[in-house]
Amino acid sequence: MTMKSNVWKRTSIVLILAMILIATACTSNNGNGNIAANNTSKDGGTSTPSTDTTTPKEDDKKLSGSLISKELKTLTLHMHVGNRWAFDDDLPVFREAQRMTNIELKGTASKSATDSAEVFNIMMASGDMPDIVHYEKKAVYDKFGMEGAFTPLNDLIDQYAPNIKAFLEKRPDARKYMTAPDGNIYFVNFIPDGNTSLVWLIRQDWLDKLKLEQPKTVDDFYNVLVAFKTQDPNENGKTDEVPLFTRHKINGVRDYLVLWNARRHTYLDNDKIKFGPLEDNYETAVQNIRKWYSEGLFDQEAFTRGTASREFFLASDTGGASHDWLGSSAGYNDTLKDKVPGINYVTMAPPAGPDGVHREEAKCASVSEFGWGISSTSKNKELAIKYFDFWFSEEGARLMNYGIEGEHYDMVDGKPKFQDWILHDPDKGTLDLLDADGAQVEIGFPQNFDYEKQWMNKTALDGVELYTKGDYFVEQLPTLSYTAEEKKERDNLDTTLDTYIKEQFQKWVLGAEEMNDSTFAAFKDRLKSMGVERLIEIEQAAYDRYLKM
Ligand code: CA
Repeated sequence: MTMKSNVWKRTSIVLILAMILIATACTSNNGNGNIAANNTSKDGGTSTPSTDTTTPKEDDKKLSGSLISKELKTLTLHMHVGNRWAFDDDLPVFREAQRMTNIELKGTASKSATDSAEVFNIMMASGDMPDIVHYEKKAVYDKFGMEGAFTPLNDLIDQYAPNIKAFLEKRPDARKYMTAPDGNIYFVNFIPDGNTSLVWLIRQDWLDKLKLEQPKTVDDFYNVLVAFKTQDPNENGKTDEVPLFTRHKINGVRDYLVLWNARRHTYLDNDKIKFGPLEDNYETAVQNIRKWYSEGLFDQEAFTRGTASREFFLASDTGGASHDWLGSSAGYNDTLKDKVPGINYVTMAPPAGPDGVHREEAKCASVSEFGWGISSTSKNKELAIKYFDFWFSEEGARLMNYGIEGEHYDMVDGKPKFQDWILHDPDKGTLDLLDADGAQVEIGFPQNFDYEKQWMNKTALDGVELYTKGDYFVEQLPTLSYTAEEKKERDNLDTTLDTYIKEQFQKWVLGAEEMNDSTFAAFKDRLKSMGVERLIEIEQAAYDRYLKM
């Protein structure tokens, strides 16, 4: 019992840490392989709203630059992130913001606490609220907002936050995301930039040896995998190649469904919510995955091997292709170049389905759950919203993206360029170094993907370009808001259905159960008896509300 709960705790911490990495650098995420994003817009890129240096309207017309107040003012802030990080008043980036705005932040969350949700709940329950509250769960802060704990920001933004206002006009997806079910905005969210997360990767050097092209279609892909399996591309005289491997167990195997235009869950089809496993494509896809598995194209331990798979198959020069996080996959050509001479593990476009369409399901969120709001008891609401607005101004966004000019970066040809020590530390990654000084922290600000491009290697940059230019991403279901009853019902249905769907998927792929039209029909009947149609109805209603927002 105790052991089980410890395992659970550890797992949940790992998941939370993975989420933070998604928030800060989606491409680089090394996470658990779930589809990262479900809220995006087609124009997912960040645009730092350009603005002239805004002179606050009210208090003092003589204030210049970003100064919000003539005298130094202090705002209190609750910020404790991901069970690991509490706001430190002396973070250089926030001190620099203080120099620019005359607003100082004073953190109220305990630095020794390790449970962010717990310190948040204690603070909320105490009624002793700081001016600004940072948090990372939309359903939770929206609920508190609707109950009156947070200030509706709509009018404050209109009056005092020209940069946020301009941003939300340009990005209606972000406005809708930030809007709670009652129509008010309670939190201003972090706006991540860059949309590539998981990609298809293949051993280009193996293709070259076998004189094969990168596969364009799912049928080409099959032929390439058979060649990998049978033609000894690692040239050791043994048939030890494993064409496909995954770190993500069942979810990794389910990544292949979309190659036949099938989905694992709810998805959008022309404003209609559909459920993947109920569709005919799902049967086709599972039949094919089952065939690939039975022919040994998949790692035969794909469902259980997990995290170690990538390192194992690449370092032993036996793995051919995978679907994985770009950022964490892109480094292997460098790290393995001595051990596996000639290794060239590169991204490829998703092979097109039978209908000729290339599809990538995974896409980084274009708005993050992380954000901050103003407590309804604050006496400094106007200052606080102006301070929020500063981080959406050109200089504020630059400060949060790149750190301090002259310390972390220099302006070169009108663009911020990181200093060498940030890019080439022997022990620490760029993001860790920035984070330690308070840059790229998940407050409400528009991220600029360029900051990440400066430290990505060629494999990663090529992948980002390939997926962004190709725009292979399938239409994403936005993050929807539910009433409390809907949410409860939905989550219950979801859990029951998901367990059954995964179980059945695994049985079919492993060949443990027959799969034919009649067993598939029985599977769909079972989903219906479990309430799948009600789930679709709840999702459709929430989506229809979203469209009207
Ligand atoms: Ca071999």
